[in-house]
Amino acid sequence: MSFLSHLECSRCARQFDAGQWLNLCPHCDSPLLARYDLEAVRRILQREDMAGRPTNLWRYAELLPVRDPACRLTLGEGWTPLLPATRLGAALGLSHLYIKEEGLNPTTSFKARGMAVAVSRACELGAAGFVLPSAGNAGGALAAYAARAGRPAHIYLPAETPVPFVRECEGLGATVTTVRGHIGDAGRSARQEAERSGSFDLSTLREPYRVEGKKTMAFELVEQLNGVPDVIVYPTGGGTGIIGMWKGFAELEAVGWIGPERPRMVTVQAEGCAPIVRAFCEGSERARPWENPETVALGLRVPSAIGDFLILRALRESEGTAVAVGEPAIRAAWGRLGSTEGILTCPETAAALAGLEDLVRDGWIRPEERVVLFDTASGYKYMDIR
Ligand SMILES: *Cc1c(COP(=O)(O)O)cnc(C)c1O
Repeated sequence: MSFLSHLECSRCARQFDAGQWLNLCPHCDSPLLARYDLEAVRRILQREDMAGRPTNLWRYAELLPVRDPACRLTLGEGWTPLLPATRLGAALGLSHLYIKEEGLNPTTSFKARGMAVAVSRACELGAAGFVLPSAGNAGGALAAYAARAGRPAHIYLPAETPVPFVRECEGLGATVTTVRGHIGDAGRSARQEAERSGSFDLSTLREPYRVEGKKTMAFELVEQLNGVPDVIVYPTGGGTGIIGMWKGFAELEAVGWIGPERPRMVTVQAEGCAPIVRAFCEGSERARPWENPETVALGLRVPSAIGDFLILRALRESEGTAVAVGEPAIRAAWGRLGSTEGILTCPETAAALAGLEDLVRDGWIRPEERVVLFDTASGYKYMDIR
C-alpha cells in the first residue's frame, strides 16, 4: 500500500491534493514533490521486511505514489547490481569503489525508474497519452512504459540525436518529432503539443513523479551497502537523480532505516555545458542558462534545469561538490571503464569517471572512502558516436 499523502511545492511549500494531476506549482511554477505519511511508514516497515519482496523498484511500494497495485507497470526496472570495481579502484587508488550498474534497467538506462513510476501514476489519474522532450534515454523509457500501459507517447528529440535513440522510440510504438536545437527547444514544442492535445507532459521535474522513481536508487544503496556510502558521483543533467536520491535519504531517515549520516553528493558535468558547476562555484542559488551547450554526453546537454536550486541545495547540504570535465577527458575515461571492469558505458558515465579521477587526484576523496560511481546507462546505443 502507498502512504502518499499530498503534493508540496519545493519553493513556496504550499500543499496540494495528490489526487489530481498537477505539473508545476499553480502559484509559483516551481517543481512539486510527493509527500508521504512517514510516521505511519516508520511504524509498519522495517528494513528486515524487505527480504522476499519483488526485485524491482516496487519493493518500496509504501514510499511510492501509486495507490492501486493493478496500476503498477513493470518491465523489471530497479534493483540493479552494485558492483565492486576492484581493478578500476586499484588503478585510481581507491579501496572501496562501487559501480551502480543502471545500464541493466529496461531500455538500458536509469530513466526507466522515473518513467515506470510516473507513467503508472499518470494512468492511475486518468492519462490518455503522453508528451516528452528528451535527449534520448528518457524518450526510450517513456515509449516502453507508455506501450506497456496501452497509451500513446509523442517524443520530441533534438535533430542531432543519434539514430539508435530515434529507432528505439519508434520500435516501442511512440511518435517521434525531431526539433532543431537542444532539449530546451524540444521542450517548448512538447509543451505546445500537451496544451493542444491534453496529453500529460512528463518533462523533467515538470511533474512530481519521475523523481519518486529515481529516489529508489538511494533506497537500494542503503540496502546493498547496509548503510550510506561516503561519496556518490553522478553525471548531472536535469538533476532528477541527485534530487531524487537526496529526497530518498531524508525519507529513509524519517522512517528509521538510517540516521543523520549522508553521502557527499557530487555532480559532474561537461565543460561544454556546466550550468550547475558554474552556479556551485559562484555560490549562487540558481543557475544561469548555458549558452551554446555542446558535449558528446547528450544526457548532460541541459543548458537550464528547472530544479537547479534543488540540485545545488543537495550538493551544499551534503558537503558535496560539482566538477566539469573536458571532452578529451570524457573520451579517455570511456575506454578505461570498459577495459578495467567489462562495462561498456555511455559518455555521461565516462564524464562522471573523469570527474571522480580529478577528485581523487586533488585529495577531495580519500583512498579508503566508500565511493559509488553511477553508471547511468549502457553504451550500446552510443556506438556511432566518436
Ligand atoms: C538523463 C541522463 C543523465 C542525467 O540525469 P539527471 O538525473 O536528469 O541529471 C545522465 N546520464 C544519462 C545516460 C542520462 O540519460
